[in-house]
Amino acid sequence: MSAYVVSRPVWRRFRPRFLSRAAAHVRAGGHAAIVLPDERVDLLLSIGEDGKLTELGLWSLLSIEQQRFRRVGEGPAKGLATARVKRQYEGSVLDWCERDSTHPGAIREVALDCLSCGACCHDANVLLDEVDLARFRDAGRGDLTGRAYVRRARDGKITLRFAASGRCQHLCEDRRCAIYEIRPDNCRAFVVGSEACLSAREETLGIRDGAPAEP
Ligand code: SF4
Ligand code: SF4
Repeated sequence: MSAYVVSRPVWRRFRPRFLSRAAAHVRAGGHAAIVLPDERVDLLLSIGEDGKLTELGLWSLLSIEQQRFRRVGEGPAKGLATARVKRQYEGSVLDWCERDSTHPGAIREVALDCLSCGACCHDANVLLDEVDLARFRDAGRGDLTGRAYVRRARDGKITLRFAASGRCQHLCEDRRCAIYEIRPDNCRAFVVGSEACLSAREETLGIRDGAPAEP
């Protein structure tokens, strides 16, 4: 089975007096947590030429339920993105720094094999929309739009109905997706190597990080 080789950012924590080092780490591809004197935590992430966060940077923010960031206007971190971490996620960010403390450099290459993993297909909140439901019907799988497979909340949200074990009903024993060709857009959008991916692997498989990629 082939594995994806993902270049993912390495997390480091810095005190504000080492902001220049933090900025250099981010410009080299890493992510930085700036631990302020009051122990609040600011993130420092890179921004592409298009003014957007990198895909993995965006997923790091989404993993801590944030979407907003601002561009630093002056000082050593000028031009980088920063965001204050919500208190309830400070521990998660510092844990990412602890996890990565043994990895040198700003970028870590890991080999992740989705076909032998399936961790993100457990305990997930997979939102469905009309496009997904139409895709099921067009493929002759109208049954997938029924109560056995989808949950319709009072607020109108439609989600995949997972098994009581927390496992997606479409996840096969060999960890393949049984409806891979017509899987929901939410599943397609999930990014391998993102913090959400690494968290799912840790929670479901007990694997703290991906295996290093073969040289
Ligand atoms: S958790 Fe990550 S490696 Fe595992 S199947 Fe999902 S995207 Fe792939
Ligand atoms: S539909 Fe497929 S890809 Fe999506 S959660 Fe279920 S098994 Fe995973």
